[in-house]
Amino acid sequence: MLSRAADGPDGPLTFIPGAYRERFLLPSDMVYLDGNSLGPLSHSARDAVADLASRQWGESLISSWNEHGWMEAPRRIGAKIAPLIGAQADEVVVCDSTSVNIFKLAAAALLARPGRTTVLSEPGNFPTDLYMIEGLKRLRPDLDLKLVPRDEIAAALDEDTALLLLTHVHYKTGEMFDMGVLTAATHKAGALTLWDLSHSVGAVPVSLNRTQADLAVGCGYKYLNGGPGAPAFLYVANRHQQGLTSPLSGWLGHESPFAFDDAYRPAEDIGRWRAGTPPMLSLAALEAGVGQFEGVDMQDLWDASQKLSQRFVERVTGQCAEVELISPSAPDARGCHVSFRFHSAYEVVQALIAEGIVGDFRAPDAMRFGFTPLYLSLEEVERAADRLVDILATGRWRQPEFAVRKGVT
Ligand SMILES: *Cc1c(COP(=O)(O)O)cnc(C)c1O
Repeated sequence: MLSRAADGPDGPLTFIPGAYRERFLLPSDMVYLDGNSLGPLSHSARDAVADLASRQWGESLISSWNEHGWMEAPRRIGAKIAPLIGAQADEVVVCDSTSVNIFKLAAAALLARPGRTTVLSEPGNFPTDLYMIEGLKRLRPDLDLKLVPRDEIAAALDEDTALLLLTHVHYKTGEMFDMGVLTAATHKAGALTLWDLSHSVGAVPVSLNRTQADLAVGCGYKYLNGGPGAPAFLYVANRHQQGLTSPLSGWLGHESPFAFDDAYRPAEDIGRWRAGTPPMLSLAALEAGVGQFEGVDMQDLWDASQKLSQRFVERVTGQCAEVELISPSAPDARGCHVSFRFHSAYEVVQALIAEGIVGDFRAPDAMRFGFTPLYLSLEEVERAADRLVDILATGRWRQPEFAVRKGVT
């Protein structure tokens, strides 16, 4: 799949799992296997938010938009995310949420394929991806959202397909699509691709340019450690930048916002995808989070993650027959998280959390664990696996308090 020969889960690693642990403020008695859902706080993010609030906002006030580079932050941070996803610096911008960015790019892609009315995706895709197209359908009643199982997607592409919308690494199972193969098939059918990289960026190597991907979006608060609700990013391949325009034509996507013209003229560059004023407190945290990846090779990091997840999977499945791995068993066919099916997955996850092992539950019956080598060591992962096995063997998860459902799982 990837041209570079990886050492795989059993070979020597270039990135030692847990090497950056000291950069993060993680409780010492916690094994955090949920960095795929909310990345932890880094010292540099904490300091950046404090500095932005007290020194920049507090002392420089409105002049900060110029003096502290606030207005350029969406492009600047986009340029820092670009190498993580195989893109050019001027193809990525940080703005809005992943959900909103899906809407913007999908709407623009549909306008670029007049006469075609199908958005193709898979059942069980992350809900927001599907919901956003449902919302678009209310504006474009001719639109058809067609959901086909992943192994039938290539065959379902046809002359009516406008857009292929897929999540590269599945949020629940961790299954990974072959971006190059599906993008090529999509182009052959005359359609565009929109990849959701929420579980890919900062997790696995992504090659948007090499695979000729058209459009992409991704999340700032998961592997990028950008903080709760961090702004998202979007990617538009250079060859599409003049041809596609955001349907949310806000003033900060204007060619010259401070000309205050009545008529909208989109910026020439990736900045046209911005809508409103950048959320600077959030961007300060995101920039620091992205900064942790400087000098880190994504293949090295993924190799380390495969070693962690494989050790966890082997230790759990080797000692416990009750749980079923619903992620691909080959580590290089999945992202950086794995999920197991168990009838009382919610209760088991709660019992684990009570013992300092933090994973999450995904309805209806999956327990999900993320393996983030920046701050997770092999020893911690082994400890977490043994704890899971023990909780299942003793039935500790049956304690009634673990069955109490919380709003966020
Ligand atoms: C987490 C996630 C999102 C998040 O969207 P928000 O708009 O940030 O809430 C979107 N897509 C996928 C695949 C995700 O995993």
